[in-house]
Amino acid sequence: MRITYACPSCGSTVAVEGVESAAAIACPRCAAAVDVPAGAIAWAGPGGEPVGPGAGEPRLRRCLVCPCTELFTRKDFPQRLGVGIVVAGFAASCVTWAWRLLVPTFAILFGTALIDVVLYLLMPECQTCYRCGARYRGAGGQQEGFDLETHEKHRQQRLRLAEHAAAGRPPSPT
Ligand SMILES: [Zn+2]
Ligand SMILES: [Zn+2]
Repeated sequence: MRITYACPSCGSTVAVEGVESAAAIACPRCAAAVDVPAGAIAWAGPGGEPVGPGAGEPRLRRCLVCPCTELFTRKDFPQRLGVGIVVAGFAASCVTWAWRLLVPTFAILFGTALIDVVLYLLMPECQTCYRCGARYRGAGGQQEGFDLETHEKHRQQRLRLAEHAAAGRPPSPT
């Protein structure tokens, strides 16, 4: 299982492979470590039955970086790459359009759109934490799509925490 998360202390993006067998994950830039919580990963056999650690497929039960237990599944598609391909295709089609090359113009536009679709389909799925945005690739377990209500709930919670932090009060447990 691979985790990609923003380091809670320095904010840099950290990617770690094999987190299912690690006791803690550390940021290579500031060395801040995050302990992998006990019981965060359940191991399941081929039929989904619980097995000993390391014996089957790791299943994520909660986020490893923050206490959040809600995650959603989405394609692990780098959005910047997708947009970059479309922009490059559009720029190239402007050139061919200026030269009055009608067929190459449309071929480029359709071609780049097609590349995007194929890339999207080939990309593996990953699970994302609603609260801190940590991404997990190769994690079994709850496979639910994005839910706007849950997202909104966590967004409000973040805002409340930020308000409390600004006011210097400890956050309420709710
Ligand atoms: Zn760091
Ligand atoms: Zn999280």
